[in-house]
Amino acid sequence: MNIFLYDSLSKEKKEFVPIDSKKIRIYACGPTVYNYAHIGNARMSVVTDLLVNILKTKFKKVVFVSNITDVDDKIIEASIREKKPIKEITTKYHKIYNEDMKRIGVKKPDFQPKATDHIQEMIEMINKLLENNCAYIEDNHVLFDVSKYEYYGCLSKRTKEEQIAGNRIDVGEYKKNSEDFVLWKPSKKNEPGWKSPWGYGRPGWHIECSAMSEKCLGIPFDIHCGGIDLTFPHHENEIAQSCSAFKKNSDPQSFCKYWFHNGFVTVDGEKMSKSLGNITLINDLLSKYSGPVIRLSLLSSHYRQPLDWSTKILEQSKKTLKKFENFFDKIPSEFFLKDSNSNFDNEFLNSLYDDLNTPRALASLNKLFDKVKDPKKDDKKIILSLAKCFQLLGINLNKNKNNDESNFVTKSEKKIIFDLIQEREEARKLKDFERADNIRDKLKKMNINIEDSVEGTKWIKNE
Ligand SMILES: [Zn+2]
Repeated sequence: MNIFLYDSLSKEKKEFVPIDSKKIRIYACGPTVYNYAHIGNARMSVVTDLLVNILKTKFKKVVFVSNITDVDDKIIEASIREKKPIKEITTKYHKIYNEDMKRIGVKKPDFQPKATDHIQEMIEMINKLLENNCAYIEDNHVLFDVSKYEYYGCLSKRTKEEQIAGNRIDVGEYKKNSEDFVLWKPSKKNEPGWKSPWGYGRPGWHIECSAMSEKCLGIPFDIHCGGIDLTFPHHENEIAQSCSAFKKNSDPQSFCKYWFHNGFVTVDGEKMSKSLGNITLINDLLSKYSGPVIRLSLLSSHYRQPLDWSTKILEQSKKTLKKFENFFDKIPSEFFLKDSNSNFDNEFLNSLYDDLNTPRALASLNKLFDKVKDPKKDDKKIILSLAKCFQLLGINLNKNKNNDESNFVTKSEKKIIFDLIQEREEARKLKDFERADNIRDKLKKMNINIEDSVEGTKWIKNE
């Protein structure tokens, strides 16, 4: 079975055919770090993380890049409001973002480039756009001339009037056409800025993703991800920049092959907004619900559908997880250790290969569960498969059961660990505590921590 994805550029579900099957390259627009991540940010991260997991079942190497926007007007405002230096704000929220994501099972991207580390690359790209006559300088600003890119509007399918309306916020008198957008703007003395051929200033938001995706992945790359709200103007502008800088009027696919957008998150039927006071932060939720419960809730609807967030979804997911956790709790660790050969359930995997149909995939796990809820001896295969499927979803049912591949333990390592634990058990039985302690130290050196409990010795790999 091949993987099919809905491509928002062509507006159709397509078979995923990589540019180079030896190395799949993915880029996702990351957060602007001036505040806590909300449930909308988390949905994008969880869905993209799942996409990476799914691709890894078929392709050996998947390189995932997601940027950090650490220069932006909103950050400057936050710095004034909180009376703290910009760097302190961005470092603090970058760290919190990564911690919160980790708690909901999102792996750190292979590269997480920061905008402020790539100003030179952005300046070079803007220079190329000027050389290609796709940008112009006006009133100390550098602007992209939208009329110079013939495919402009290809992603969002907006009419010229809609483009103007969408861009209203930064309509300036210095623009030739009101749909043109800023590549570089001047900074005041007290604002963050860099020296450039156009004076002291800072980049517009869109250019960073064009510069960093090219730097980290090269173009064209395979998949560009992001929330649906970024389609216009951000992604439309990324295409315009990347397809004009290297060669004028390049086809949108010369930037990336597939566009992968996740749907909106509403809260109790309403759009999340400051004025309604219903912005739901992951950090707050984590004080009430576990990471896996939040993750399962985010995966409970299809990623392209709008997700209406409510306590009901969280409670439902909590109940579902509890059911599986209780079941796995009763299974001894050795069950997973001795034989880690397991396969994915076909129906589950096919559902995920079909444009990440998580509701259908979860339904197949429930069906599997019904088969084994009163385990018989020959159910082992199904139980191992269930554990493996949950792993793919990024949900760890029971860390102490060592069934979590995210702990990066290979099969041969598992055998060594298991043998050492057995050896230690024997030493303890013979009251040879020195030997037992030596084995514990040996495991510690392998980055394995052990814990003795009534059910036996449990182990966990430190990250
Ligand atoms: Zn972006």
